[in-house]
Amino acid sequence: MKIYSFEKGLLEWFKKNERKGLPWRRKRISAYEVWVSEVMLQQTQVSRVVIYYENFLKRFPSVEELAKASWEEFLPFYQGLGYYRRGKNMLETAKKIVREYGGQFPKTKKELMTLQGVGAYTANAILSFGYSKDSLAWDTNLQKVFGRFFFGNKSEKFDEKNFDEKIKAEKKIFNGAVMDFANLVCKKEPLCDSCPLKKQCKFFISNGKLELKQKKELKNSFRIETARAYVFLHAEHKMYYSSNTKKYKPFILPIGKVRREHIKEYFLNKYGLTLSVRPPHKRGYIVGRPIIFVNAQILLGVPVFSVFDRQRVHDMMALISFDS
Ligand code: SF4
Repeated sequence: MKIYSFEKGLLEWFKKNERKGLPWRRKRISAYEVWVSEVMLQQTQVSRVVIYYENFLKRFPSVEELAKASWEEFLPFYQGLGYYRRGKNMLETAKKIVREYGGQFPKTKKELMTLQGVGAYTANAILSFGYSKDSLAWDTNLQKVFGRFFFGNKSEKFDEKNFDEKIKAEKKIFNGAVMDFANLVCKKEPLCDSCPLKKQCKFFISNGKLELKQKKELKNSFRIETARAYVFLHAEHKMYYSSNTKKYKPFILPIGKVRREHIKEYFLNKYGLTLSVRPPHKRGYIVGRPIIFVNAQILLGVPVFSVFDRQRVHDMMALISFDS
């Protein structure tokens, strides 16, 4: 019953308040066009993406056209969106789609997720918007709205599949409705007073206390002795050393080795390097595990690691999603 009124209330709200003019909301849209929009929308504001998106599709109307492009031809249509790694991934993926899939994006989540830069959310978005498949595109927006309405807080862990089955609306429309609702009403600071769902919303009924309580619990439950340190070893923040030779990966220390003296000792014993270690600059949970991010610089010794530019590292950090 509650699901039914949630779904109905959201769709009614959407009919009157849909964000108009978003070019990727056209009724007929190809998987390629959905993919382009999703790549551009990662970490970039909607209003900025709209301009780039239209120009991009004029120049590269199909995946075949994109696959033919060189980096130099591609760059002017991407420059300004930042995160060049994403751009490189786009070109690689386009070539792969043409080479291995005959120009058609795959129709299964598993195959889609083998493509460079395509995670679970983007795969579901392609399936839902591009192929009208019955998938909810779970991202932070959906997590927030469902979490608050049904459980009273946006960080609640719940079984997404359960909702996939119970939401009866066309998923393509419903995904768009929740995204708009999350951006216009159920925002970071939600506009509950004017929300049509408030009567049944657990967040509203609890006066936001459940979310606050969980925030505090997560903060208090952060036990430094069970955390892992992700060490970002850099040379004046310009080049970053990687623990993996092929792709950028920070150095991940054993559980509990998180204090400065632990990190210094670890690098000295293992690699013969003397480090200057900064205080942690971020902490949180990744799949429920406590993590701290630490920057460190080499003072003495010769590193033998692969090096990556700053942009690559920032891209990687942007893709990490913290639980809280
Ligand atoms: S009442 Fe508030 S928290 Fe609940 S769905 Fe509406 S805006 Fe979000």
